[in-house]
Amino acid sequence: MFSKILVANRGEIAIRVMRACRELGISTVAVYSEADKNALFVKYADEAYFIGPPQSSQSYLNMDNIFNAIHESGSEAVHPGYGFLSENADFVKRCKSDGIVFIGPSEKTIRGAGSKIEARKTMQKAGIPVIPGTEEGIKNVEHAISAAEEIGYPVIVKSSAGGGGIGMKVVKEATEIEQTIESTQSVARSVFGDETVFIEKYLEEPRHIEFQILADSHDNIVHLCDRECSIQRRHQKLIEEAPSPAMTLELRERMGASAIKAAKVIDYVNSGTIEFLYSKGDYYFLEVNTRLQVEHPITEVITGVDLVKEQINIAYGGEISMKQRDVHINGWAIECRINAEDPLNEFTPSPGKIRRYRSPGGPGVRVDSGVYAGYTISPYYDSLVSKLSVWAPNRMEAISRMKRALYEYIIVGVKTNIPFHKAVMNNRAFQNGNLTTHFIDDHHILKEVEKLAYDEKSKDGSLAAALETDNKKIAAVTAAVGAYLNQRR
Ligand code: ADP
Repeated sequence: MFSKILVANRGEIAIRVMRACRELGISTVAVYSEADKNALFVKYADEAYFIGPPQSSQSYLNMDNIFNAIHESGSEAVHPGYGFLSENADFVKRCKSDGIVFIGPSEKTIRGAGSKIEARKTMQKAGIPVIPGTEEGIKNVEHAISAAEEIGYPVIVKSSAGGGGIGMKVVKEATEIEQTIESTQSVARSVFGDETVFIEKYLEEPRHIEFQILADSHDNIVHLCDRECSIQRRHQKLIEEAPSPAMTLELRERMGASAIKAAKVIDYVNSGTIEFLYSKGDYYFLEVNTRLQVEHPITEVITGVDLVKEQINIAYGGEISMKQRDVHINGWAIECRINAEDPLNEFTPSPGKIRRYRSPGGPGVRVDSGVYAGYTISPYYDSLVSKLSVWAPNRMEAISRMKRALYEYIIVGVKTNIPFHKAVMNNRAFQNGNLTTHFIDDHHILKEVEKLAYDEKSKDGSLAAALETDNKKIAAVTAAVGAYLNQRR
């Protein structure tokens, strides 16, 4: 097994990876930017290397500095987490030429999956259903107009290199297409450095369902069932659950077989996710994510598999620890992404200092977090505070448990989306499993949040006051002890 791994990431995911390493007896190396010098993951690691200023482009995306840290620390492998360099084929290439093991799939697989147009083509050739759309990038306005007409409005214009819900826009009618193509190309150019866009049919009431895959270099491949990630804002996930409430045994069999086929046709090795949209009984390939997903804990919770340990073992050349017949779903898991953001102000990030922090616990609760009381959430990175996951024997009990855990969660100092999660858990349609990617709008969730936030404010207000009193007490005691000691000197 490896003896030392560098984690080229930050926050909760850096800790998640280091936890697996610690259990495997592997030494851990963190890299950190100026903004993260007091972060928990830096303290957690066995060694830590400074890699530059707060801006990601100069630190977490700065390959020269990261490779310096890899070599200086004598790390044998690098785990990229998610985001940053995790799906960067050039990084993987450089690892190979430097003799460092990249914990993830090959450069070729990442390049193929990184282009949504290429991935669509490959999947279509393999007989996996794709959403009706253009086979190639849009060449000019005329091409866009005729393609959209043929596909039928509404359509969605997407950047081929896109990710994170960025670089895609819905077009309802022909009059908007020219302008949307131009604006999407411009976003794609500036964010992804590639202005290629394509057009897909916009499915009106889809559910986002994805399959977790593990594949090793000995031709073993398994899927670890499904997750549903339909609760989204701006095409970004906020709540995920496993399994999907829409799933039947027959559908899981079919989608699982498609997911395995999708992984095979791109020579997949390591952990990955095949995303689908599901609508009116049909499913369509959406994209492949060639990394560990943010929402991987819920799969771990219902299958008992440690995905990070599997990743490390696969990268070392080992075999997956199970066969498909050994994969069983036990109960139900839900994950809420706890973000420092204001749901009532278009989910704008709310960076700042966490003054008080108490995370939930008790039966069936898992918190993946990288923060602590006194920690300052930086405006330079995403606003994820933690991932709160719960397990219960069935979905209704998981919802009750999540409500209880959200009730226990205390974060004072920054605005969070906890009231949003409470509103969703309390919603009847959610409880009934009637989900679509438009759930938040269709069920007027933000109106519910407004009511809850008001109650929350009074609760948090009184709590903060109590804590302030506490602080005063502590300060007074400290001062008194100090004075006493000074006297004796
Ligand atoms: P990204 O790579 O940026 O995450 P995806 O292609 O995975 O983008 O899509 C993210 C989300 O956008 C989906 O979960 C879904 O809500 C929405 N979406 C994407 N394509 C379509 C489509 N053709 N029809 C309807 N919704 C879509």
